Amino acid sequence: MKIPSIDPSECTDCEVCIELCPTVFRRNDAGFIEVADLPEYPEEEVEECIKNCPADCIAWEEV
Ligand code: SF4
Repeated sequence: MKIPSIDPSECTDCEVCIELCPTVFRRNDAGFIEVADLPEYPEEEVEECIKNCPADCIAWEEV
């Protein structure tokens, strides 16, 4: 299965991914953007986030 992942060292905290796809991307208690634990991920919405992430730090990961 494919899950989206964020490279935290590149993330600029802009919240574009949260605005575009709040079911997948959220801010955790430590203040970092993270990927929610979901049984499956909406491919089109995540693709939109990948395209629009200004830091280019979201990618699919095969697990
Ligand atoms: S869109 Fe990219 S840079 Fe912006 S908060 Fe999300 S992961 Fe970080």
